[in-house]
Amino acid sequence: MPDYDPNNIFAKIIRGELPCHKVYEDDRVLVFLDIMPRAPGHALVIPKNAARNILDVDPDDLAHVARIAQKVARAGMQVFDADGITVQQFNENAGGQVVFHLHMHVIPRKENVAMKPPATEKEKPDVLADQARRLAAAMQTL
Ligand code: AMP
Repeated sequence: MPDYDPNNIFAKIIRGELPCHKVYEDDRVLVFLDIMPRAPGHALVIPKNAARNILDVDPDDLAHVARIAQKVARAGMQVFDADGITVQQFNENAGGQVVFHLHMHVIPRKENVAMKPPATEKEKPDVLADQARRLAAAMQTL
């Protein structure tokens, strides 16, 4: 497996070199909205420590990512009046991974509504800002 690249796009977001629509942050994880959401409220949960994917992540970081993904899922159910949640996590090119910093997708779903194909359409920044604000508020109640 290739080494972790500290210049990947999510590492730049963690360092504050690129913007994101932040939903939640603690000392170990950052949660923000996917800019090309597969459904409204599509969030990404990432560890702050360097990890390419599930193959090299510190198990405690992975456990914390999962713990926070559960909270994001519960918040997504409320905020988007969802009927379900899809959680996805891809590893290496063959596993569907495009950005090589570990991330868990948390995607609110409605009954009988298909997800958009990956990386099709950029959501408007004001829509993402509003969704991130509502998800962040819901996270505080959980
Ligand atoms: P994957 O590595 O296949 O799990 O996909 C990477 C995901 O990151 C895709 O869903 C992209 O839409 C998303 N993405 C790429 N760049 C950004 C960014 N700057 N901010 C938020 N999401 C991003």
